[in-house]
Amino acid sequence: MKIALVTGGSRGLGKSISLNLAKKGYDIILTYKSSKTEAEGVVDEIKQLGSKAVALQLDIAKTSTLSNFVGNVQTALNTQWGTSSKIDLLVNNAGIGINVACAETTEEQFDELMNIHLKGPFFLTQILLQHIVDGGKILNLSSGLTRFSLPGYGAYAAMKGAIEVITRYLALELGERKITVNTIAPGGIETDFGGGALRDNQDINAYVASQTALGRTGLPDDIGAAVSAIVSDDCRWMNGQRIELTGGMRL
Ligand code: NDP
Repeated sequence: MKIALVTGGSRGLGKSISLNLAKKGYDIILTYKSSKTEAEGVVDEIKQLGSKAVALQLDIAKTSTLSNFVGNVQTALNTQWGTSSKIDLLVNNAGIGINVACAETTEEQFDELMNIHLKGPFFLTQILLQHIVDGGKILNLSSGLTRFSLPGYGAYAAMKGAIEVITRYLALELGERKITVNTIAPGGIETDFGGGALRDNQDINAYVASQTALGRTGLPDDIGAAVSAIVSDDCRWMNGQRIELTGGMRL
């Protein structure tokens, strides 16, 4: 039995990651911020695949609530799995997109992006370390936008760049516990991200497809399936890496 904790598992990439991990036999603790009904729907789908699952509320931007959240994780581990400490895989996925030029970015927007994409995952990982098993795995979510630039994503991509740096440091520091830490960097994927612009706006969709070697935009399962491969034991020697999953964007 392996247990994965996936933040932002109610929709989009986190939902696909949770379902693909369940197909590989993982039990799942997934989180949502406000979409309780969607999260419970994902829990039901996971149960139909034969795995255990629970959905817990988390606002990753509110670091003062993290110890409470970890208490809820411990309770779930106790009641569902009969253990107080066993997370095999942490996927720091939850996130939002704000498209605004650097010249127009407010301090409030900057802080929101920082709290959700950088400070939150940093301190959630820190507080969960005692519950992650030796030999476990941590996977962070970055973005293709740290390698190439698109107007309006300066502050967002800066936070994702920082998570790539932290990934390398964590990999180094957790090596003695045989915990591997990697980052995936997806390209444009059709989700609710950024108001669903990539999925719903034909012009944006066609532009991103035109910049992609495989000639289309990404779908959530392109990422979920890749994650289940990346966290498999076949990839046990991969550590401290940024793995780009863009279909070959802006090569
Ligand atoms: P979605 O908008 O589809 O889903 C976002 C998920 O994150 C939801 O589960 C949501 O919960 C949760 N969430 C949002 N804000 C918070 C918060 N403050 N605290 C906790 N959970 C929160 O986005 P994607 O699935 O597309 O994005 C997932 C990750 O992938 C993000 O980190 C994003 O930056 C990254 N990414 C996305 C790309 C894309 O093109 N889609 C490309 C590259 C990276 P709820 O449902 O309750 O609101």
